[in-house]
Amino acid sequence: MLPRLYIVIPCYNEQEVLPITGPMFLDKLRSLIEKGKVSSDSRVLFVNDGSKDKTWDIITKLSKQDEHYIGISQSRNRGHQNAVLAGLMEAKDCCDITISIDCDGQDDINAMDAMVDAYLDGCEVVYGVRSNRESDTFFKRFTAQAFYKFLSAMGAEVVYNHADYRLISARVLKEFANFKEVNLFLRGLVPLVGFKSTTVSYERAERIAGESHYPLKKMLALAADGITSLSVKPLRLITGFGVIVALISFIGVIWALVTALRGNSVPGWASMTCIVCFVGGVQLISLGIIGEYIGKIYMETKARPRYIISERTWEKDDK
Ligand code: UDP
Ligand code: MG
Repeated sequence: MLPRLYIVIPCYNEQEVLPITGPMFLDKLRSLIEKGKVSSDSRVLFVNDGSKDKTWDIITKLSKQDEHYIGISQSRNRGHQNAVLAGLMEAKDCCDITISIDCDGQDDINAMDAMVDAYLDGCEVVYGVRSNRESDTFFKRFTAQAFYKFLSAMGAEVVYNHADYRLISARVLKEFANFKEVNLFLRGLVPLVGFKSTTVSYERAERIAGESHYPLKKMLALAADGITSLSVKPLRLITGFGVIVALISFIGVIWALVTALRGNSVPGWASMTCIVCFVGGVQLISLGIIGEYIGKIYMETKARPRYIISERTWEKDDK
């Protein structure tokens, strides 16, 4: 039997791109159906992430035009990761495979063929990996590269150059549903579920229209979130640094004592001040990092729902 595919697409204030890319996703789905790779009751599932513009109107209009389009709406904006999660959780009981992709046309939809082929060959997770970064500005390329390097140095393992374009089978999603964390960093979490996986490379283009929702500030927040929700290495680094500072100060104390015993006065008001300021700064940063983890614990203990679906263009029928 052919697998039933749901293409999950998060959309936030995308009224400019959706009328262009919506039909592109449907064409792709149709061609996959025609090629006999996926079943004819596959769907394009839009997740409206509490958009403030006409995005939801466009989605409902599309869903009336063709039965392959369906949409759900979040009760408010919850961010990209939660929107993708909402779509995947919605899809997991109705399909065999999901492919999540951004709605701005940056990710090459033609890579879906290779993804589905890999699934048919037995892979349960297929990561879309971008082969070029030429379409990005130098700044975005540089910060993105730094992002991956920093993440892996901090012990958060992610697939290099993979964003949120990936195929996940319903079987993996059912296991993934048991990962209850509120702090979502999907690209770090999916590898933790395991199962056979592979990568498919694709060229990433520029946004067709509209503007990126990931300016530097949000990218930094995502990096910090990714690291602190996947790894405790920063905490260990603080301990390591503390040990080093303690050792150095021990040597300093001995040196000061010896100089004093020799009858020389201890010189250096400036060096004292520098050390006090430096250690003070390091302590504050360390407290901040620890605070970040405490904040995470705080949010996790509340265990608030990770998404709330307020509207659907369809009647959900569990398979
Ligand atoms: N997005 C979302 N909720 C948000 C921000 C973004 O659902 O709060 C969606 C957005 O509509 C797009 C995807 O996430 O489909 C990626 O966003 P964007 O293209 O702005 O990020 P970039 O590709 O520049 O990193
Ligand atoms: Mg984009």
